Amino acid sequence: MELKGKKVLVVGLGKSGLAAALFLRRKGAQVTVSDVRSAAALAHDLPALLDQGIMVEAGGHGLLTFRRQDLIVVSPGVPLDTPELVQVRNFGLPVIGELELAARFLAGKTLAITGSNGKTTTTSLCGEILAAAHFRVHVGGNIGVPVIALVDDSREDGWSVLEVSSFQLETTYQFRPDIAVILNITPDHLDRHGSMENYIAAKERIFANQGPEDALVLNADDDAASRAAARTKSRLFWFSRTRIIRQGAFIYDGAIYFRATEQSAPEFILKVESIPLKGQHNIENVLAAVCAARLADVASDAIRRAVEAFRAVEHRLEFVATVNGVDYYNDSKATNVDAAMKAIAAFPSGIHLILGGKDKNSDYRLMRPLIQERVTAIYTIGAASEKIITHLEGSAPIVNSGTLDVAVTKAADAAQPGEIILLAPACSSFDQFQNYEQRGQVFKDLVFARRGIPEWQSA
Ligand code: ADP
Repeated sequence: MELKGKKVLVVGLGKSGLAAALFLRRKGAQVTVSDVRSAAALAHDLPALLDQGIMVEAGGHGLLTFRRQDLIVVSPGVPLDTPELVQVRNFGLPVIGELELAARFLAGKTLAITGSNGKTTTTSLCGEILAAAHFRVHVGGNIGVPVIALVDDSREDGWSVLEVSSFQLETTYQFRPDIAVILNITPDHLDRHGSMENYIAAKERIFANQGPEDALVLNADDDAASRAAARTKSRLFWFSRTRIIRQGAFIYDGAIYFRATEQSAPEFILKVESIPLKGQHNIENVLAAVCAARLADVASDAIRRAVEAFRAVEHRLEFVATVNGVDYYNDSKATNVDAAMKAIAAFPSGIHLILGGKDKNSDYRLMRPLIQERVTAIYTIGAASEKIITHLEGSAPIVNSGTLDVAVTKAADAAQPGEIILLAPACSSFDQFQNYEQRGQVFKDLVFARRGIPEWQSA
């Protein structure tokens, strides 16, 4: 793709927008950035852009700015139904995402992972496994490092391990990973995708350009993910926690096995009990990673070493501390109902559950059976409290706590030694916090304060 002299507009100045703009400029394009936020809000990034001769339109999008371009690169945070984008697409101007742009320049092989939940965990795990086998590997995408930032270091003999979200996939046209993984597809982000069908269609773009020499790994235990099998030309592999798989990864007699073809003998990889992560959902993530890693030709002993050394990614069912005999877990990243249910299912009983935040049009009633079975009390916080109370009334005692510090105090007062205090909010954080990371950090600080040890002394 020749960019020299091309007029390119980057829409949305997030982390990936910034990286894309600088990359495009280095390739000789005439770059403009447009963002609806004010110049003051963008101030942090403006010098870096202006220094490179990149023009910046702040405080809104001008239709003329959009029409004047040869190519538009849109950030994952910008909805595709933004009127200016709809107009220029109708004119036939190419509109691509940062992932698509990067994919056209990335050297080497690509392993891409998508799903509603578990992407970050599985992506980091795959990165660790490939590194344990001394592969030349770089990890990026939705996980925090823009894919475009991997381009310069990528080599023909190396691997890029990418976490890809539905928003990033929506704007791909040629993106073709050598190995694609769909972990699961459960309702999320329906506010932006409009319908479950659109959301599934976006996820399935991960294999849309694959051919018979590429591999697609699907979760046999997940209905929506399995249905993708009918629509692919790729070599199909499966993983399952519940049944024996003819081609892929599965559990038999307490151990994970991989079978490369229907004809080959299952190969022992590791014992389930040696997985250091909590919850059945994490076994699914490990199965997916095992399957992808074997397809990338990683030997089973490197897989085993990396899995056994792997610790929960921060804010993903992360163990915080034991205080007065009560174990605290931070699953601030459980921003939807399915992830929160997976967190509850990781503990048999005695759970004091902190729920709430900003509602995403979710149906909390789905949680009722699990709550009845395992949860001792619920503590609600944030804007979604009323809806959660209506949906869950009668399933467990509910304490409307308002804020996270009140919830932690009330839960700590009530919990008995041996019980669990779990932050798995099933909501986004944006009503009371900047993001889920901050919410998780505040939770951890509250726990550390109860232990009487400053945070910097805890490890
Ligand atoms: P993502 O990057 O897809 O958001 P994460 O690894 O960050 O995935 O995990 C997000 C949330 O989902 C966390 O609360 C985590 O505990 C939970 N989770 C992780 N893996 C799975 C899975 N396979 N199925 C359901 N929930 C999961």
